[in-house]
Amino acid sequence: MRVLIIEDEKKLSAFIAKGLAQEGFSVDTAASAAEAEKQTLNGVYDLIVMDVNLPDGDGFTLLEELRRQGDQTPVIMLTARGSVDDKVRGLETGANDYLTKPFSFRELVARARVLMRTVEKNTDVLAAGDLTLDVRARKAVRAGKTIELTNKEFALLEILLRNAGRPVSRAVLWEHAWEGSFEVDSNVLDVHVGRLRRKIDAGAGDKLLQTVYGVGYKIEVQGRA
Ligand code: CA
Repeated sequence: MRVLIIEDEKKLSAFIAKGLAQEGFSVDTAASAAEAEKQTLNGVYDLIVMDVNLPDGDGFTLLEELRRQGDQTPVIMLTARGSVDDKVRGLETGANDYLTKPFSFRELVARARVLMRTVEKNTDVLAAGDLTLDVRARKAVRAGKTIELTNKEFALLEILLRNAGRPVSRAVLWEHAWEGSFEVDSNVLDVHVGRLRRKIDAGAGDKLLQTVYGVGYKIEVQGRA
């Protein structure tokens, strides 16, 4: 279970990070909205814990942007203000839960666990151009034609489509398709991506799967480079 903590109060962020790590979560932190936006969010994290008051903006705007991009990662908002307005705004914006500071760590963990059990993390059908991937049915279709994918190819295509228009690093692709195994064998990754590319782009007009040199790969989206 991977969690991203977006919180500018260093002590609080470190405290939450340490506690969640002890609970078995894999934790990353961001100290500002800009830092959070730079990370590959979509499909990578199982949960985001987000402070409402960030140095370069507020959590509502960041959350709105995430949801606008189709990112349905469960979000717990942290607010120092106990006002009803903030709670309502947070939930309307797409937060799944909120905690008012100061909160007990046990309450955060309890809510995180409930969210992970109840929130449907994945959108069912991902798409780019005339390519669709039904995540639940594990079915890929391009221009009306079904494409048979191996488990690895499916995993690679899923994370690429969840981040369509943005480069996905080799490390993230590896971790997603090889389930947390850290032994990155470049050649193996390239071979699998190569096979996936031939399956989805062979004979098709637009080449959707692009190499991003020095970074990894991405799915090209028309008008959203
Ligand atoms: Ca803050």
